Amino acid sequence: MSIRGRSYSSIPLDGILVPYNNVFIFGSRFMAEMPYKIVVGLEVHVQLLTKTKLFCGCLNKFGQAPNTATCPVCLGLPGALPVMNRKAFDLSLKAALALNCQIASHPGLEPGFTKWDRKNYYYPDLPKNFQTSQYDLPFSHDGHLDINVNPEPKKAYTAKRIGIIRAHLEEDAGKNIHDESGRGGDTRVDLNRTGTPLLEIVSHPDMNSPEEAMAYLDELRLLLKELGISDCEMQEGSLRCDANVNIHVPNAEEKKGYAATPLVEIKNLNSFRGVGKSIAYEAERQYEAYQKDPKGFRIDKFLKTTAGWDDARGKTEVQRHKEEAADYRYFPEPDLVPVIVSQEQIQSIRDSMGELPQAQRKRLETQYGLGMDAAEVLTAKGRKMVAYFEDVAAIIGDGKAAANRISDLVYPALTERNEEIGQFPIVAAQYAEFIKKTATLNKQDRVDLFKYILEHESTLETAMEKTGIKPVTFDEATLRAAVVKAIADSPKIVADYKGGKKQAAQSLVGAVMKANKGAPNDVVRKLIEEELAKV
Ligand SMILES: [Zn+2]
Repeated sequence: MSIRGRSYSSIPLDGILVPYNNVFIFGSRFMAEMPYKIVVGLEVHVQLLTKTKLFCGCLNKFGQAPNTATCPVCLGLPGALPVMNRKAFDLSLKAALALNCQIASHPGLEPGFTKWDRKNYYYPDLPKNFQTSQYDLPFSHDGHLDINVNPEPKKAYTAKRIGIIRAHLEEDAGKNIHDESGRGGDTRVDLNRTGTPLLEIVSHPDMNSPEEAMAYLDELRLLLKELGISDCEMQEGSLRCDANVNIHVPNAEEKKGYAATPLVEIKNLNSFRGVGKSIAYEAERQYEAYQKDPKGFRIDKFLKTTAGWDDARGKTEVQRHKEEAADYRYFPEPDLVPVIVSQEQIQSIRDSMGELPQAQRKRLETQYGLGMDAAEVLTAKGRKMVAYFEDVAAIIGDGKAAANRISDLVYPALTERNEEIGQFPIVAAQYAEFIKKTATLNKQDRVDLFKYILEHESTLETAMEKTGIKPVTFDEATLRAAVVKAIADSPKIVADYKGGKKQAAQSLVGAVMKANKGAPNDVVRKLIEEELAKV
């Protein structure tokens, strides 16, 4: 089989490779086993949804005029002193707890003790010449996030636990705006972003395919959005991701049974698809390099290199060898006091988290009997959508029907109107009423009525009047007479039915419905069963 035109032979790789059977990689069904194992760790930076910056009172808001949201603190002017933003710390703590992290549990130190450090480097977008960050005593560490790695994630759940090494808080740098006209103009610097709060979440290298990396990012994004920690807009830079990639090539002569290639950190990833594509590309590039030089192209012979991802060309470009951590000359920030997180603080944040996505999916499945797919879609659409669904389900007394009807009409309407459920003019109680009163209509009639209501901001009654679409009412006696007639007219079907072919009753339903357009299907079904029992 092939991926990007390359052929793979089946190499026996017992115990080392995960089979990639039936996994979609970017549209091509990739049936063969990879001749290597991909190993990926992700470093994710998210901008926090605070009103002000991390250490000063400047507004933390996207899209302000350049260099208008600055002050002596974030400009690094002499004598200016930082003060920690409590809200930023609380949001980070919430994220860490949701990621099952330990909170500042450092050997030999008071529980909850964490401190700030200076990371020293010079760059035009960093006016202080250092970034206030956390080095050896981050506020959180050793957590995990479970993701679904089933090849058919909409049908079945196969959990995989991705370890979180640490999550720490730091300030962002400004932005260099290069002249892209090609006429060699100046590079300008916008310092509005300088000092805005950034949460860095570093995973263990536990992901073994582009799909797993994307599933991890997806779950992380949902969690952070649901908790109001970040809006996680990758295009706007409020979620940034670097991927550390290498591969393990099976080799019986090695002590570990495989050879590991040098680590490459891919930067500039600005879409989920880019994350997946760049990992697949980089793994393949490393495999080719390894095949050319199996003895030399090894992890212990190279420093980690950084590469940029060129999305237009679909290629990684090696940029430079990574500097060692020591080059940053980290030292404790003398202008900020250490933070001690108390148990009460942890408990109060835990209490405010509400239901997390994973628990929510499970509850929707068990409480309402929804399929995995429906529960997944509802959860992915956010807590407000779930609340809407639960209100509708409670009123009509049927979770499955509520989910189906919402997915039939409400989801497409929201997409078309580019609205969130909170802005949608038809509230849950009205929609439940709509479902009840249109239960006997066919789907197209429901679609037309719904469209009319939304376009004209009308009531259901007015919409029925104006469109002429109305549920036909049938009294049971008329329907029963029709059923009795259908049974009398179809001795063969009745004989089949009596002979054990229960599905024969379906043609009777068809016959009755044909003669009584719009009749409630479930009532007809019930009457046919009753009358057949008498024959
Ligand atoms: Zn400021």
